[in-house]
Amino acid sequence: MRNQPPTARRLGLVACRSCHLLNQRLETAVDCPRCGAPLHSRKPNSIARAWALVLAAAVFYIPANVLPITHTTSLGAVQSDTIMSGVIYFIHSGSWPVALVIFVASVFVPLLKLLILAFLLLSVQRRWQWRPVDRTRLYRLTEVIGRWSMLDIYVVTILVALVHLGALATIEAGPGAVFFAAVVVVTMLAAEAFDPRLIWDNMEKSHERAD
Ligand SMILES: [Zn+2]
Repeated sequence: MRNQPPTARRLGLVACRSCHLLNQRLETAVDCPRCGAPLHSRKPNSIARAWALVLAAAVFYIPANVLPITHTTSLGAVQSDTIMSGVIYFIHSGSWPVALVIFVASVFVPLLKLLILAFLLLSVQRRWQWRPVDRTRLYRLTEVIGRWSMLDIYVVTILVALVHLGALATIEAGPGAVFFAAVVVVTMLAAEAFDPRLIWDNMEKSHERAD
């Protein structure tokens, strides 16, 4: 890429990530003069931290889908449901829009987010020059859709609170719900750990990395 505008780092500027005050970058690491937060021109150890969190979320993804997410007791009979068995139940009972929402929010989106983050991390590590603007957009997408994966946890929470008819029917959260919440939270932390400016650092071929 030719004719790129200079980056803040090349101009010797660094923004505070807490209060967004723009500072002149000094030789030694300093704290923000306004709010006292440490100043970094790039998130420290961004790639290593993001990879660790992505891998942890990928591991949690397995029990989240294999273990039951709800235990339903109805007239003495206990039924355990995983996310997928819940989806299949809604398809069979004719509520395919509900099945679709649960599938997209709980199975498809968390997996997609992990794949996008892994792809972005690989692209930065391998110094790919491919479409930096689109990769930045992909990153913003993972940030925006993160919270919607919590839909299933809300549904379980509401069901547990509502369906408490004593001996007749109760719904309890299963161990899968804990792992599912862990997948969502850890993936959000992974997206937060990744520094999208690294995508652009690789576009400046001649400019060596400073820190
Ligand atoms: Zn500050």
